[in-house]
Amino acid sequence: MGKIIIIYGLPAAGKTTQALLIQEKYGLYHFGMGDKLRAEIESGSELGQQIKETVDNGLLVSDEQIIKILHNIQGQAQKTGIVFDGFPRLEPQARLLDEMLTQVNLEVDLFILLKIRPEVAEQRIGNRAESGGRSDDKDKNVVNNRLEVFRQESESLMAHYQKMDKFLEIDGEKTITEVFAEIDKHLSL
Ligand code: AMP
Repeated sequence: MGKIIIIYGLPAAGKTTQALLIQEKYGLYHFGMGDKLRAEIESGSELGQQIKETVDNGLLVSDEQIIKILHNIQGQAQKTGIVFDGFPRLEPQARLLDEMLTQVNLEVDLFILLKIRPEVAEQRIGNRAESGGRSDDKDKNVVNNRLEVFRQESESLMAHYQKMDKFLEIDGEKTITEVFAEIDKHLSL
């Protein structure tokens, strides 16, 4: 059975990059919450219209809305396992995920913090903004909001997984290959 892995870190820590490498090697389904929210907005659905302003401002959408995006994760978790990227971001979301997994006799196997310094995050976001891409990378206030959300929420979220003894911290400032090698070492156990 596939594992349930969470990749966490500041914006531009490399979450999606590493999640995709994990997907490729281990066949886990990649659940990118930011991607799903952007796709929902792009679709023009009612939910998409409701969350647009919040995402555009770099703030967190409500748990009620997040639950709608999560709809079929239990089936997917049973089938392939999941690597989550961008979810959970809050301790209540972590508890929600635990409950959903418990219903299908699963649990989180590992929570990985890709640790980078805030100044490195800002630098990388700046580079990403220059090479096109996401609107939430281009506005300084929005970037500050996203860094602030992390500052406020990360401690209680990480404590949740530390208590469960599922917490792993990796130096996210190393190269993509080095970071993945470190992750791989733990996943191949
Ligand atoms: P990301 O692509 O992971 O940087 O996420 C982009 C934006 O989507 C965030 O700045 C939030 O506005 C929203 N978002 C992503 N994940 C979550 C989450 N777990 N809970 C609430 N909002 C989220």
